[in-house]
Amino acid sequence: MIGGVCINTGTIPSKTLREAVLYLTGLNQRELYGASYRVKDEITVTDLGMRTQHVIGREIQVIRSQLARNHVTVLQGTGRFLDAHTIGITHEEGKSEETKITAEKVVIATGTSPARPDSVEFDDRTIIDSDAILHLDRIPETLVVVGAGVIGIEYASMFAALGTKVTVIERRERMLEFCDLEIVEALKYHLRDLAVTFRFGENVAAVERRPGGALTLLESGKKIPADCVMYSAGRQGKTAELCLEAAGLAADARGRISVDSNYATEVPHIYAVGDVIGFPALAATSMEQGRVAAQHACGEPVEDTRELPPIGIYTIPEISFVGRSEDELTRDKVPFEVGISRYRELARGQIIGDSYGMLKLLVSPEDRRLLGVHVFGTGATELVHIGQTVMGCGGTIDYLVNAVFNYPTLAESYKVAALDAMNKMRVVARLTAGM
Ligand SMILES: Cc1cc2nc3c(=O)[nH]c(=O)nc-3n(C[C@H](O)[C@H](O)[C@H](O)COP(=O)(O)OP(=O)(O)OC[C@H]3O[C@@H](n4cnc5c(N)ncnc54)[C@H](O)[C@@H]3O)c2cc1C
Repeated sequence: MIGGVCINTGTIPSKTLREAVLYLTGLNQRELYGASYRVKDEITVTDLGMRTQHVIGREIQVIRSQLARNHVTVLQGTGRFLDAHTIGITHEEGKSEETKITAEKVVIATGTSPARPDSVEFDDRTIIDSDAILHLDRIPETLVVVGAGVIGIEYASMFAALGTKVTVIERRERMLEFCDLEIVEALKYHLRDLAVTFRFGENVAAVERRPGGALTLLESGKKIPADCVMYSAGRQGKTAELCLEAAGLAADARGRISVDSNYATEVPHIYAVGDVIGFPALAATSMEQGRVAAQHACGEPVEDTRELPPIGIYTIPEISFVGRSEDELTRDKVPFEVGISRYRELARGQIIGDSYGMLKLLVSPEDRRLLGVHVFGTGATELVHIGQTVMGCGGTIDYLVNAVFNYPTLAESYKVAALDAMNKMRVVARLTAGM
């Protein structure tokens, strides 16, 4: 699998599927052209899969070419440690014996696979994980998603947009706890509008296969029938085959390896990066971890830019943020002012028919620096990077207030939100001065 989960089963297929869903359903155009607007009336899995396969194929070619251009040798097989400097490779193409290679430095980047609890009878057709959802033979009319994490909610929103009746079951009382509460509430409102049912604070007792579907039994006694059940309750580090003990290493119960700030493991010449080290388990951060580890392993100086990792959640509508949330700042007793811009007040929001999108700035009233940027709606995952840049360069909202933005753009929401925060801070300053 050149490109790993990112290219083959995770990021790229899910994001391409999302794009295909948005295009074929015409969902984003309905505010302008009416609720019945569709590009294609009967959308099939073939329609969706075609675009996904095309993009995966192209991405693999790009990666192969980059590896070749940089003189990287690829040995296709399963690697395991024979000792701290030797890797044995089995199932290598065209070879029956285990081959051995030695290296001064080693980087482990074996990733994760979906966790499959023994209590669930996965059959890859009706009871599936996030890998098998890409190979469904038809779009289900009803879908149960167990687990309201990022992957579960992204797929729940895509199928809801396709017209599937989705039920999301989550053990906790809240979903996406690390996100801004107001934005999560807005997402829930939208998903309910697409006929998603949420069951928070519920535990799954069993999932039973039945003719033509599956029955999800909850500990509370509820029975939820569906054509298909997607189990999305965590992922397991792929370390079982690695024989870590031969290198003097060990993984935790979820298969994760612990590392220091340079991504070196307890054995200093062995590094570990990406999903196999756990949170945040994103392609975005994994790539950067790989770069930092490689720089450190080769004795190259590396500048630390990891302070402000953005989070992007490709639900429909999408969410993105950087920096701190209102909850975190309140908990830590850090005062902040909020500046909000709503897409419906922007010309670009009207042009594209996005009336629900919003951008929220959290600003320090003491030095006017940005503490957090939270975006919901069209282009959120792109827009967040303007805020990230201002924050990374130590800028204040004065920059956003004084800058000229292209018009009409969604980027303009930064100026509107900055003016909103500034006006609120002025009122506080005036009243404080008059005390
Ligand atoms: C459904 C889904 C959606 C996602 N969406 C996003 C997103 O929108 N944005 C984002 O930033 N991230 C997203 N992610 C996360 C992203 O895919 C991962 O963070 C990223 O792929 C991790 O890269 P990695 O190199 O650590 O591991 P992986 O991509 O898992 O790659 C590990 C590779 O190592 C190989 N391997 C494992 N063991 C061995 C062995 N013993 N010998 C040889 N090879 C081995 C595997 O076959 C695999 O090819 C998503 C993930 C999923 C599942």
